Amino acid sequence: MRSWSLPVGKFFGIQVYIHWTFWILIVWVFLMHAGSPQGVNQGIWGVLFILALFACVVLHEFGHALTAKRFGVVTRDITLYPIGGISSFESMPEKPAHELLISLAGPSVNVVIATGLWIYLSSTGQVPDLSTLNAAQVANLPFLYSLFIANAMLAVFNLIPAFPMDGGRVFRALLGFAMSRTTATRIAAALGQILAIGFVFLGFFYNFWLVFIGLFIYLGAGGEAVFEQTKSALAGLTVRDALMHRFTVLGPDATIGEAVDALLNSQETEFVVADAGKPIGLLTRNEIVKGLSSGGNEAAVSAFMNTEFFIVSPDAKLFEFFEQSSAKQQSVALVMDGDKFEGLIDLENVQEKMMIQEALASRRILHSTGH
Ligand SMILES: [Zn+2]
Repeated sequence: MRSWSLPVGKFFGIQVYIHWTFWILIVWVFLMHAGSPQGVNQGIWGVLFILALFACVVLHEFGHALTAKRFGVVTRDITLYPIGGISSFESMPEKPAHELLISLAGPSVNVVIATGLWIYLSSTGQVPDLSTLNAAQVANLPFLYSLFIANAMLAVFNLIPAFPMDGGRVFRALLGFAMSRTTATRIAAALGQILAIGFVFLGFFYNFWLVFIGLFIYLGAGGEAVFEQTKSALAGLTVRDALMHRFTVLGPDATIGEAVDALLNSQETEFVVADAGKPIGLLTRNEIVKGLSSGGNEAAVSAFMNTEFFIVSPDAKLFEFFEQSSAKQQSVALVMDGDKFEGLIDLENVQEKMMIQEALASRRILHSTGH
C-alpha cells in the first residue's frame, strides 16, 4: 500500500500518505473547472476546495485513529485515495463498545465541522437562499457553504450501514452486544450486500455513480465477511499448530547457486540462513532471483538474505500471525521460542490449516445430523 505513496507528515505518531491516484483526481478537478467561463481561476478554486475537503477527510480518519489509540489499537498509517481516506489498524477492536465508539468518531468529526461552519455562516448572514438561486448560482455556491454541504454528506454517506463504511461497523457493534461477533458480521455483511444491490439497481434509473458505490460496498462487505470467517476458523490455534519442522538450512558461506539447487530440488520456497545453529537471515524466492541476476551463481547468500525477518513465538495465536504478516507484507516468519529456533511458518501453512479445520467442522456438522 505504501508503494507510490507520498509521505506528507507524521501527526500523533501516525504517518499520513497520499496515494498517487489522488493526483489524478486533482488534475481532473482542475481541468473540469478550468473549462468553465472563468477558466484557470475557477480551476484553482476547484483544486483548493478538494484539498480543503480532503483535509476534513484526514481529520475524520484521525477521529477514528485517536479514539482507537485510547483503547490500545495502534494505527499504522493513514493513506488518502480519491475515494477517501483509509486508516490501517494493526489489529481490530474486539469489544463491541470499543468498535462502536471508534466507528462513530470519524463521522462525528464531520458533524462537528459542519455544525461549526453552519454557525459561522448563519451568524455572518452568508447562508444562500437556495430557492431563489438560478442554475448558474447553484453551480457556484460559496466556498465555505459548499464545504458545509460536503461535510454533512460525508457524515451521512459514512453512516450507511454497510461495510466498508463506518455505518457497517456501527451496525455490527450494535448487533455484537446481543450475539457473537461472527454472527454479527455475517448479518451486517448480508445487509451491506442487500443495500449494495439496491444501490446498483437505483443507479441504473437515477444516477450512474450509485452503481459504482454499490459495487464498492458489495466487495467491501464480502471482504469483511471473509476476514471474520478466517478469524473464527483459526480461533484457538497457535503458531505451533501450523509450524513447518522440515526445512533446509543454509550456512552463511553458501552460494546463490546452492540456494537455486535447493529451490529446484525441494518443495520449499524459503530457506533459513544460520550460523552455528543461530538464524541470521531468511532467503525467499525473491532474494534468490535478485542474487542470481546481480551476483550470479557464485555470490554468497549472506549478501542477499533478508536480515530484518519477522519473528513469532510458537505460542502466539495463529490469527495474530495472519494479521501481522499482512500488515508487515511478509508472508513468512521464523518461529523462535526465546533463543531456540523452532522452525518456519508461512501463510500457505495457515491456509492449509484453515482448509483442514473447515473440513473437520463440516464433518462435525454431518455427524450431528446423524449421517
Ligand atoms: Zn470513517
